[in-house]
Amino acid sequence: MTNKYIIAPSIVSADYLRLADDIRTCEASGADWIHCDVMDGHFVPNLTFGPFLVETYKRASKLPLDVHLMIEQPERYLEAFAKAGASHLTVHVETCPHIHRTMQQIKSLGCLAGVTLNPGTPVSMIEPVLHLADIVLVMSVNPGFSYQTFLPETVSKVAEIRKKLDEIKSSAWLEVDGGISSETLPIMEKAGANAFVSANAIFNHPQGIAAGIKALREAAS
Ligand code: ZN
Repeated sequence: MTNKYIIAPSIVSADYLRLADDIRTCEASGADWIHCDVMDGHFVPNLTFGPFLVETYKRASKLPLDVHLMIEQPERYLEAFAKAGASHLTVHVETCPHIHRTMQQIKSLGCLAGVTLNPGTPVSMIEPVLHLADIVLVMSVNPGFSYQTFLPETVSKVAEIRKKLDEIKSSAWLEVDGGISSETLPIMEKAGANAFVSANAIFNHPQGIAAGIKALREAAS
C-alpha cells in the first residue's frame, strides 16, 4: 500500500562505500521511493551519475527509483534511464523546449512522467503540461548540491501548484526537493506537497538513516 506521504531519500548523500547497505536500510526503514539526482555539470554546476549506476541501485532494492534529471537535452537519455530501471523520470522545464513531447516520450517508456522547475522559474512555465504530469517537483533550493538552505519563497509556489492541480482534478504527486527536514517538511505539507525528497536529514541524522526517516514520517503526520 502506498503511504499518504512519500518519503524519498536522495541517494546522492548516501555513503558510496556501503551504498547497497544504505539503500537496503532506507527500504527497511519505510522509505517509499529512492530519489536519484542526476547532474551533468552543464545544467547544474555538479556531476553525479548516469544510467550505469541507476542500474546498480535497482539491484539493491525493490523501491521505485525516482530519477530527477538535472541535465541538458534529457530526451537523449530517457530510454537509457528507463532501461536501467527508473520508475519515474522527472525533467526540468528549463531544459525542454518541447516539453509535451518529452513528457509523452517518458510515458511511452512505461515510466511515470515528472516535470520540475527551478526556484527562479515561474509556475506558468509548467502550466501547459500539468495535465500530463504524474509528478510535479518543486525545487526548494537551486539544484546542484546537498546541504543547501531551504528557500522560503518556494512555499507559495507549492500552494499555487496545489491549487492548479486540484482545479484540473489531477492526482499527481506534488514533490519538493531541497533543504527538507522535520522543520521544513510540515510547512511544505501545509502548502500542499505530499512527496518529500531529503538527503542530509536522512543520511546525516545523528542516530542514523532509520531515525532520519522516522523523524520525517512523524513530521508529516
Ligand atoms: Zn532531486
